[in-house]
Order: sequence, then structure tokens, then C-alpha cells
Amino acid sequence: MKLAVLSREPNNYSNQRLVAACEARGHEVRVIDTLRCYMNIASHRPSIHYKGEALEHVDAIIPRIGSSITFYGTAVVRQFEMMGTKTMNSSLAISRSRDKLRSMQMLARKGIGLPVTGFAHSPDEVPDLIQMVGGAPLVVKLLEGTQGIGVVLCETRKAAESVIEAFLGLDTNILVQEYIKEAGGADIRCFVIGDKVVAAIKRQAEPGEFRSNLHRGGSASVIKITPEERKTAVRAAKVMGLEVAGVDILRSNHGPVVMEVNSSPGLEGIETATGKDVASLIIQHIEKNIVDKPKKRVEA
Ligand code: ADP
Ligand code: GLU
Repeated sequence: MKLAVLSREPNNYSNQRLVAACEARGHEVRVIDTLRCYMNIASHRPSIHYKGEALEHVDAIIPRIGSSITFYGTAVVRQFEMMGTKTMNSSLAISRSRDKLRSMQMLARKGIGLPVTGFAHSPDEVPDLIQMVGGAPLVVKLLEGTQGIGVVLCETRKAAESVIEAFLGLDTNILVQEYIKEAGGADIRCFVIGDKVVAAIKRQAEPGEFRSNLHRGGSASVIKITPEERKTAVRAAKVMGLEVAGVDILRSNHGPVVMEVNSSPGLEGIETATGKDVASLIIQHIEKNIVDKPKKRVEA
């Protein structure tokens, strides 16, 4: 097959592993800088140009669209879809998963366990908002935060009120969420390919910290997940329409709850901790289930 990885970072671990796995399986592969692609969207014969030339045909693309370029990146993926190129994850699924509110609403509608969560922009009744999600302790998150930045644990109602008021004073969207204390500062990253969890790791926050992000000093280890966790992760990816996803779960005393579904999950943490060749599993999935599938309807 001819494959293209869409990414701005040809040298990061994930992309190097994907390229190596493609080559090891006898495929041709190149990494294309998403932002250097340009296209005539009105043409009858959609095409994509790259660095001065029309891109030659590829059988499938592997989008690794960073969250800062979601808007342009999903347009590039959509153009490939219009050309009939297969894609590991569709543009629609990537857009959905990047919108936290939309994702949580979609997951909730399908009955997938979530932390009790409120969204707000400028409520005049902060005490009622707090009450609505069950009172303190609670977690307040900036909608646009990443790597644990903008995630605050408020132990008391008073603290919650001041933090919420401070964020709202900055005219920002926030999410107010039940604090899953029993998770003990750990979350579980399930790496989903198709209808399977192929690898799972536990990320444990460092002592005194509740955020388990590796960027916040968390550490990763292998974990055996329960059948219910497995089912939840696979269903969450399916609801978002993602073939490949990183589903982050917390163990709560009301069962597994999904925090986030990531459409470009990194490979380094999961491969290093589990020793599994996740990159090759992705390429095998593309061979069997994406390229060899009848042409799907072009989505949105
Ligand atoms: P980001 O997307 O910035 O990583 P998250 O929402 O994933 O932000 O939160 C960062 C970390 O904080 C999570 O990995 C988890 O360990 C912890 N955390 C987040 N929400 C909760 C919650 N409601 N209860 C308990 N811990 C949480
Ligand atoms: N965005 C990161 C990456 O593509 C991974 C984020 C994650 O796995 O949560 O490498």
C-alpha cells in the first residue's frame, strides 16, 4: 500500500514508529506536513497540492492532527475523503472528539458512564451550578486546557465558588465536575483499535497531586482492565466514530467513567510501558479493515 502520515512532527516518537511499522510491513509511506497542504475545494476533481505539486495517490492516510490545528487539519482530511482516499480516522470523528462538550453530550446520550459534569459560560447562580453537580469537593476545568493545565481541585464549596467566579470573570468556558476521589490520582488510558482495547496503562499522579498527566510528573505502568472497562472504552470510541482512539477512564464507585476520547493518541507511553508493538497493530488494522473495505459514504 501507499500510505501517508499527516503530521507536523515527522520526528516524534509516534510518527517514527508508524513509519517504521509501515516499512516493516512492506508499504510505501511518507510524512506530510498538514499545514503545507493546500487545495482547490471547488474543483470537480478534488486534489491536494503539497510544496508546489499535486500529491500523488495514496491508499490511506493516518491523520495525526494536533489540537492546535484541528480546524485546518480536519479540512485537509476532508479533502482526502472527497478524493476517495481512505483514512484511519474520519474528519468528522476527529472534529467531534476535539469538542469536549459535544463529545460528552454524545457519550451521555449513548449511556456511557461519565463523571457528573456541568458546563457553564456565565451563570449568575454559581451556588446552583455547584449544587447541580453534587457540591464540593469538585473539579473545575478550563474547556481549552491540555496536559492538566487549567484543571483545579476545589475541596470546599467556598473554594469552588471563588475559582468558578475567577474563571467566569475571564469570560471563558468551563466544566464543573464531580471529583472522583476513589480513583486515587490514577487514570487508565485504553488504546482502542477497531473493536478491541489492544493495550492499557495506568497513569498514577505523583504523591500530593491528583492529576495523573505524565507532563505533571505522573508515571505509567501496565494494568489489567476489567471487562466493563474494556466495553466502555470500545463503545466510547465507537460513539465518536474513531477507529483508533485513546480513551481515558477513571475508576469511580459508580463504575468506569470516561474523561476523554483522544483521536491522536501518543504511542510512546503505551508502547514503553506495555512492550507492545501498537504501531504495527494500527497498520494491520488499516490493511484489513480500512483499505480493504468498500468505499464508505463521504462524511460531513
Ligand atoms: P487534560 O485534558 O488537560 O489532561 P484532564 O481532564 O484529563 O485534563 O485532567 C487531568 C488529570 O486530572 C486526569 O488525567 C486525572 O488524573 C485528573 N482528573 C481530571 N478530572 C478528574 C475528576 N473529575 N476526578 C478525579 N480526577 C480527575
Ligand atoms: N497528542 C499527543 C500525541 O499525539 C498524545 C496525547 C495523548 O495521547 O493523550 O503524541
